[in-house]
Amino acid sequence: MDLGIAGKTALVCAASKGLGKGCAMALAAEGVNVTITARSADTLEATAEEIRQATGSEVRTAAGDITTAEGRALALETCGSPDILVNNAGGPPPGNFRDWTRDDWIKAIDANMLTAIELIKATVDPMIERKFGRIVNITSSAVKAPIDVLGLSNGARSGLTGFVAGVARVTVRDNVTINGLLPGPFDTDRLRGNFKYRETQGAGSAEELANKAAAAHPAGRFGQPEEFGKACAFLCSVHAGYITGQNLLLDGGGYPGTF
Ligand code: NAD
Repeated sequence: MDLGIAGKTALVCAASKGLGKGCAMALAAEGVNVTITARSADTLEATAEEIRQATGSEVRTAAGDITTAEGRALALETCGSPDILVNNAGGPPPGNFRDWTRDDWIKAIDANMLTAIELIKATVDPMIERKFGRIVNITSSAVKAPIDVLGLSNGARSGLTGFVAGVARVTVRDNVTINGLLPGPFDTDRLRGNFKYRETQGAGSAEELANKAAAAHPAGRFGQPEEFGKACAFLCSVHAGYITGQNLLLDGGGYPGTF
C-alpha cells in the first residue's frame, strides 16, 4: 500500500533508539523527510546515518532534551513546520509511590504530558492551514491497564490522553488527526531496564524475568520496534484521516479485556 506521504516532513522525538527510531525508520521508508531528536549527539547521528542508508530519505538531527523548552525550540527550528509529529520521550522511572516527591511528579508530567502538549500547540495550526496533519503520541498500555511500579507513567500519560481526547475532535475537520499509540512490551532498552529494576528488588535475574514474561505473554514474545514503526506510519498516512482521538494498543494481545 502506498501511504501517500512521500515528500512530507516529520518530527520524531526521542528517536535514537527503540520505538521512536522504529517510527522514524518506517516514515523515512515511505519517503518522509524526518527530523529526529535525542539527548546524545553521537548516538543520534549514528541512528540518522543508519536511517539515511536504509531509506535514502533526508534525516536531520536535533540533539537536546525534548522535555526542555530549549530542546523543543531546537527540534522545531531544525525541522521547520512538520506535517507529522510523533511525540515521545523517555518514560519515568519505576518505584514505590510512597517515595515520590512533588518534584518527581512534576518531572514526569513535564516529560510525558506537557512536552507533547507544547509540541502540539507549536505545530497544529500550520497543519490545520495546510489541511493535513498527523500527530501520534507514544504513550503506554499503562493508560488502559496500569502497572503498579510505573505510577508516574500511569498518571502523566493519562493526563495527556484526556487532553488529546478533546483536541483531536476539533482538528479532524481540517484533516489533522491526533491519536495515541499504546505499546505493550516491546524489546527495547527501556523494557530491559524495567526487568533490571525488578532484579534490584530481589525478583530474580533480569534475563530470567524477561524470558518468563515473554513466554507468559499471549504472543509468546515481546514486540519489535519495527512493528511499532509500521503501525505508526499507517496512522500518519493519507488513508488514516478518519481515525482520530483513538488509543490503539499494540500489545500482542496482552490486554485481557473484550473491549
Ligand atoms: P528506549 O529507552 O529504547 O528509547 C528511548 C529513546 O528516547 C532513546 O533514543 C533516548 O535517547 C530518547 N530519549 C529519552 N529521553 C529523552 C529526552 N528527554 N529527550 C530526548 N530524547 C530522549 O525506550 P522505548 O522503549 O523506545 O520507549 C519509548 C517510550 O515508550 C517511553 O516513554 C517508554 O516509557 C514508553 N513505553 C515503552 C514500552 C516498551 O515496552 N518498550 C512499553 C510502554 C511504554
